[in-house]
Amino acid sequence: MSENSGRKHSIIIGGGITGLATCYRLQREAATRDIPLDITLLESSGRVGGVIETEHRDEFLIEHGPDAFISTKPAAKALCEELGIADQFIGTNPKVRRSFVVRNGALYPVPEGFYMMAPGSFMPFLKTPLFSWRGKLRMVLDLFIPRRERDTDEAVAHFVRRRLGTEAFTRMAQPMIGGIYTSDAENLSLKATFPRFMEMEKAHGSIIKALRTQKKQASQTSRDTSGPRYSLFLSFKSGMQTLTDTLAQALSDNIKLDAKVEHIQQTSDGNRWHVSLANRETLNAELLCIALPAPQAAVLTGDLSGPLTSKLNEIPYASSATVNLAFRREDVTHPLDGMGFVVPATENLSLIGCSFSSVKFEDRAPTDHVLLRAFVSEPTSKKTETELIELCRSDLTALLGIKNAPQFATVRKHSQAMAQYQVGHQDIVRSIEQFTGELRGLVLAGNGYHGVGIPDCIRSGEEAALTLLGAL
Ligand SMILES: Cc1cc2nc3c(=O)[nH]c(=O)nc-3n(C[C@H](O)[C@H](O)[C@H](O)COP(=O)(O)OP(=O)(O)OC[C@H]3O[C@@H](n4cnc5c(N)ncnc54)[C@H](O)[C@@H]3O)c2cc1C
Repeated sequence: MSENSGRKHSIIIGGGITGLATCYRLQREAATRDIPLDITLLESSGRVGGVIETEHRDEFLIEHGPDAFISTKPAAKALCEELGIADQFIGTNPKVRRSFVVRNGALYPVPEGFYMMAPGSFMPFLKTPLFSWRGKLRMVLDLFIPRRERDTDEAVAHFVRRRLGTEAFTRMAQPMIGGIYTSDAENLSLKATFPRFMEMEKAHGSIIKALRTQKKQASQTSRDTSGPRYSLFLSFKSGMQTLTDTLAQALSDNIKLDAKVEHIQQTSDGNRWHVSLANRETLNAELLCIALPAPQAAVLTGDLSGPLTSKLNEIPYASSATVNLAFRREDVTHPLDGMGFVVPATENLSLIGCSFSSVKFEDRAPTDHVLLRAFVSEPTSKKTETELIELCRSDLTALLGIKNAPQFATVRKHSQAMAQYQVGHQDIVRSIEQFTGELRGLVLAGNGYHGVGIPDCIRSGEEAALTLLGAL
């Protein structure tokens, strides 16, 4: 864009939800503030949405990536309201708001009131066969163990073992957290992933006390039977891609597909950015947002700043795969009277979890069929698609009493897609932000920094947009 015309140019790299949210907010804010700004979003693949992908096949609605977002973090819900798609929201099935955990090859319901690592109700907890009596006694000690005074970061696994014991970790917290972060909770940072539990310890001196207090305060309507707080999650009638499709429609003039960025360079006066694409095209801009997972961002910052690049590379990412399988209802023996299950690592299965998709949400499969969405973690995800389907089928057959082959099965691999916020993550992010702050007109956004969920990514993109406008 010509510097003489007074118009500025902004480039966003990456067309996942982060890049789309950045682009949308930048466009809206520039218009509101009457700033003449051309915005281009560059996406390497032939579609926007990134890991968010919904497929409609026959009468099935298949989610290959995320299947819902949490409504308590306001950014996603607010954006949907602004886009006029809030009337398409659907909640999870209120009739079966509970989940299961695998123990010795069988499914057991998460006891009512149990949340992630600790019980919020005593009777269901005392009755569950998921923990030994010794394990239960150890968990109850949480009521008496003094709170930790230091405010330093701690591994989630250490926190759970310290407050609630080893069984609470291996049989419940590890599979629950593994289900969210698709990996090992051993080194995850408590401060960066579950600060709420830190606050509970601080405020109540006990996680059990805190959960019981919350339970008393919670309204009857928002109370879940067990497991993750399912009532807080939202999706769309036509699937998660409703969100990214709506953004893509609103931004159709700004989006450039099949535009893989290979190199970025700042001009010597520090005022502009040269962005080189794989097709040898070069674009120029005053403002640049890298809306990519941290390792992919690091590939682009390599020639720009060694310290920034090495800090980005300090954020590990895990790979995973989703395997959607459709069965005839009569071929599945289990009543599927829950949202799904998680699998502790100690069970040595290929699956880390499975959602009963057509139970969790309405209208996801014909009434005489069920749709299951299995997750496999890092090492398993490296297998071929056929091997992955076979592994999932074999685990599901044993756990759910499946009698026949699936009607179809489909796999999506998510390579290095899920950030692992390890102990010290917030210090790494502070350094990244400090190094980026020294590069005029550049911001980073995405799931590597302040949260991995969809609302976190949207907030990160929206904040990036405001920072860029501030730089003008
Ligand atoms: C399997 C799975 C399930 C999940 N489930 C949930 C859930 O239920 N709820 C929830 O809230 N969150 C969930 N998450 C997390 C959340 O979906 C992601 O953190 C978020 O969608 C990431 O969006 P993003 O735009 O930052 O990155 P991505 O979606 O990875 O998008 C990045 C985009 O950049 C493009 N790109 C890469 N390199 C370049 C380049 N050099 N040039 C141009 N373009 C490039 C890619 O093609 C891609 O389209 C899940 C994540 C995964 C992987």
